[in-house]
Amino acid sequence: MTAERDFYEVLGVDRTAGDADIKRAFRKLAQQWHPDVNTDPAAQERFKEVNEAYQVLSDPQRRQAYDMFGRAGVGGGSAGGPGGPFGGGAAGFGGFGDIFDAFFGGSAAGAARRARPSQGSDLRYDLRISFEEAVLGAEKEIEFPVLGRCDTCAGSGAKAGSTPVQCPQCNGRGEVRSVRQTMLGQMVNVAACPRCRGEGKVVENPCEDCKGEGRTERRRSLRVSIPAGIDEGHQIRLTNEGEVGPRGGAPGSLYVAIHVADHPTLTREGTELFYEVDLSIAQAALGTRLHVPTVDGEDAEVEIKPGTQPGTEIKLRGRGVPHLRRHSVRGDLHVITNVRVPTKLSKRQRELLEAFAKEAGEPVSGPGLREKLGL
Ligand code: ZN
Repeated sequence: MTAERDFYEVLGVDRTAGDADIKRAFRKLAQQWHPDVNTDPAAQERFKEVNEAYQVLSDPQRRQAYDMFGRAGVGGGSAGGPGGPFGGGAAGFGGFGDIFDAFFGGSAAGAARRARPSQGSDLRYDLRISFEEAVLGAEKEIEFPVLGRCDTCAGSGAKAGSTPVQCPQCNGRGEVRSVRQTMLGQMVNVAACPRCRGEGKVVENPCEDCKGEGRTERRRSLRVSIPAGIDEGHQIRLTNEGEVGPRGGAPGSLYVAIHVADHPTLTREGTELFYEVDLSIAQAALGTRLHVPTVDGEDAEVEIKPGTQPGTEIKLRGRGVPHLRRHSVRGDLHVITNVRVPTKLSKRQRELLEAFAKEAGEPVSGPGLREKLGL
């Protein structure tokens, strides 16, 4: 390209050409030289030149300035200089350089995504485990359907003996750009190529087993390590165990969502376990020993001291849930006492309690009152 080619010459129009002629000429040349459709190494420069000429000649004021003063009249400078050919020019034309940046990789819009196969989807597997397995950890075998790499074509999607070829629509770039004229000037729209879906390659002879997808559905079984201390709602992420992407795309992740069954008598809050125990009045007053269920397989023996009050907490240190990230640290098992007041008494029990009350000097409802109340 010669740096100072005449704009009319670039567009191939007369100096007397009307606006419609200039537009038509520009469209034809832009289509011809657009770097997305023309692989000629010179195409980019030619396209830029065509665009530059059109920007000036399509604007009556700037065209007039160009007719009178040449390039100097529209800002001078050579094409491709800093700030664009017309940066800060007399005509106050702005944004020209931006448009080229957008086209040729200088701006955000031009920061093109690389053409590549898309990644496979993540999968979710809901896994139900027992209360003890959550506390102590476990190994679980899971089986699930998944889109895996096609063995026949090794994921390429192409029939044996063939390989995917560069996409003819986007020339392997994986994206197409369209230029739109708006009130604000040219807008460049960048979109994934519809032909190759952004992959830059197309399969001409598809593999018969996967119909060109590069992946087929199969069942996969996996051993999943459940760490001790896991809890309801936690997820274990297994990278690369999700679906593989089409035509060699990277696999997604498998998320194993944990659901923990309830324990018949224990409850859990984080690393702490709770056990509520009912004591009789006599047990609370006199003390006792009782067995408390644990998650370790054996019951723990707990001493209830004489005079234990309702709501007393007895802590069994280290008998709770291991810390999820520091397994050496374990929570506690909290035994919480209730004192149950009997609602039905045998004759003998009543006599003994009345005797107890009399001994303590406590007034209680006697037989007379009970009879009056019809009890
Ligand atoms: Zn295949």
